[in-house]
Amino acid sequence: MKDIEAYISELREEDNSLIREMEEFAAQNRIPIMDRNGIETFIGLLRIQRPKFILEIGSAIGYSAIRMVSALEGTSVVTIERDKERYASALEYIERSGFGERITIIEGDALLLHDESLPSLKYDALFIDAAKGQYKRFFEKYAEHLTPGGIIYCDNMFMHGAVMLPDEEVPKRNRTMIRNLKEFTSWVMKHPKYETSLLPVGDGILVAVKKRD
Ligand code: SAH
Ligand code: MG
Repeated sequence: MKDIEAYISELREEDNSLIREMEEFAAQNRIPIMDRNGIETFIGLLRIQRPKFILEIGSAIGYSAIRMVSALEGTSVVTIERDKERYASALEYIERSGFGERITIIEGDALLLHDESLPSLKYDALFIDAAKGQYKRFFEKYAEHLTPGGIIYCDNMFMHGAVMLPDEEVPKRNRTMIRNLKEFTSWVMKHPKYETSLLPVGDGILVAVKKRD
């Protein structure tokens, strides 16, 4: 099949120069922001859901946060990043984007963060895009802050295809991470409180809708 991502990019040329600059900065500095195909699909889903408050785990340089608020009028994002340098770049980009009032970035490890550090305790969407071996822990820690009917989105569910490889073909240094990610995937697919689907776009996006019980 022809390169789907290239095809989509051609159809929708990015006209925002800051977004383009961020994509180039990320490519040059090997910062794993969502790819075009993934972000376009993700934003399409958010436009349907229309969440007012989004919590993101893993800001990197603020790319997905800025894309989310620019697509959703009146929506606020709280985003957490533990890497000092990326946090500093994100702050700068958010400031330049003019969306500073709708994006709150918190520097720190999301797994160690206390609830008091969060500006709000209720979110309609949770976007998990941080350490891939820790997704279950992020999910368990933050799911309580999700409103009924709210949605948890997770990126990189395929880890560029690594989840499909037999264990011994996964590079040793990634084995635990991939094993954890696969365990999380089967666990969440069976979770009785969520209706979950795994979308084969970008690097794999999981969509888990919290039941209203
Ligand atoms: N969502 C971003 C990309 C995030 S990349 C985008 O698409 O634009 C993943 C980021 O998660 C990295 O910058 C990494 O430093 C951060 N991260 C990993 N584990 C974390 C943790 N436990 N707490 C906070 N940030 C974490
Ligand atoms: Mg990602």
